[in-house]
Amino acid sequence: MPARGDGRLSHDLDPADHTPKDACGVFGVWAPGEEVAKLTYFGLYALQHRGQESAGIAVSNGQQVLVYKEMGLVSQVFDEAVLESLQGHLAIGHCRYSTTGSSVWENAQPTFRPTPRGGLALAHNGNLTNSAELLDLVDKRAAEVGLMPLPARGERGTTDTDLLTSLLACHQDGSLDDAAADVLPEVRGAYSLVFMDETTLYAARDPQGIRPLMIGRLASGWVVASENAALDIVGATFVREVEPGELVAIDDQGLRSRRFAPADPKGCLFEYVYLARPDTKIAGRSVHESRVEVGRMLAREHPADADLVIPVPESATPAAIGYAEESGIPYGHGLVKNSYVGRTFIQPTQTIRRLGIRLKYNPLREMIEGKRLVMVDDSIVRGNTQRALVRMLRDAGAREVHVRISSPPVKWPCFYGIDFASRSELIAAEREVDEICGAIGADSLGFISLDSLIAASGQPRERLCRACFDGAYPIEIPQSTRRGKFHLEVAISGR
Ligand code: SF4
Repeated sequence: MPARGDGRLSHDLDPADHTPKDACGVFGVWAPGEEVAKLTYFGLYALQHRGQESAGIAVSNGQQVLVYKEMGLVSQVFDEAVLESLQGHLAIGHCRYSTTGSSVWENAQPTFRPTPRGGLALAHNGNLTNSAELLDLVDKRAAEVGLMPLPARGERGTTDTDLLTSLLACHQDGSLDDAAADVLPEVRGAYSLVFMDETTLYAARDPQGIRPLMIGRLASGWVVASENAALDIVGATFVREVEPGELVAIDDQGLRSRRFAPADPKGCLFEYVYLARPDTKIAGRSVHESRVEVGRMLAREHPADADLVIPVPESATPAAIGYAEESGIPYGHGLVKNSYVGRTFIQPTQTIRRLGIRLKYNPLREMIEGKRLVMVDDSIVRGNTQRALVRMLRDAGAREVHVRISSPPVKWPCFYGIDFASRSELIAAEREVDEICGAIGADSLGFISLDSLIAASGQPRERLCRACFDGAYPIEIPQSTRRGKFHLEVAISGR
């Protein structure tokens, strides 16, 4: 019997350890004759790094849409018996990290609504920025068609995704295709969507294409996924990305595409730094290659006199390899990571919490004792992790610790689906590099420049969102959204 979620997965083992958290992974498959729920399960497995709070799958056999979702990792939520019960020819799946609304069962995805056309299930990666406006719109549209604006208490989610699902369900005439083409132009922010009714799989991406979304081909059908690693794991061949502002429908007539808004690409630069898997390609550029290249540039911009280059595993590993290559300093492992330890259902005691960073990393004393180290990490958010790691390495015998960061200082929060921290919690928001260096206790500190990171992504500057580094938000952020991830929950709970 796999471990079951208790619906209260809100406790981090180490509250001081706040690395950037992604906003979810989405997967969809249309493949008659295949075990679509199992394909979705494996797709979600490949996307687990994008969201570890809850997971769900919706499946249709042509007559009925069935949804199963729970709190926890994909491997905790699904077992053979559950997957066997999810029979059909099309499915969508989701793994969540919350960026709007609490981490509770009601907010797990796929969301579901009955409509006059049948069932509607939807999964979303990203974060909407005009959800206060959308809540008013749901009220208005529901009144026009005589529906309850939101499901009853106890079944009601408090997320931007729930509002979007309600808006689509309020469209009572025509196909889901037409409903989406009407509703999506009213939605602002970041959304890579997969959704479905009984017969058709849909995929759509916001006009800025902030979050990735790929289309793949199976011998017997089609797959849509956040990253191509999820296409690879089910044996699908990459076809193309869903274009920014494009709506795709897949059914027994094949793949149809329509545009609901002109494309204005602003892909997330942070996907290259940390979020995406290294074996993913975004806009044709290998994430691994761009990370290695950033490491090389970092070595040129911020050289160090040292004996060994070590990564903070795993996302900084390619940058550390690049740094070592360019500098000629040997590369080695100095820290071993306990993957996923922060996502357990076991409520940590104070004693466990006091272990802090040791829960996640263990030093390799024999590698680091007496050495001058370059420790390469992907980003600094609040600085607690780096401070603890520098201390851990010194305690394990390192003579010097020079910290090199493969992204520029994170000075601004993200409102498009990444949960960093509020601006007041970001260590780089108001501090210069030498102050941050002192705060984390390193011998020296260097960040890659924004120009170099952009160059390594292979994308033109104007096609990228860089807001967390330079504060230039490509999509307007209303005041209500700036109030944080619970602003909508407060508005909905008050009803
Ligand atoms: S603000 Fe940063 S993390 Fe958010 S979408 Fe823009 S580049 Fe990505």
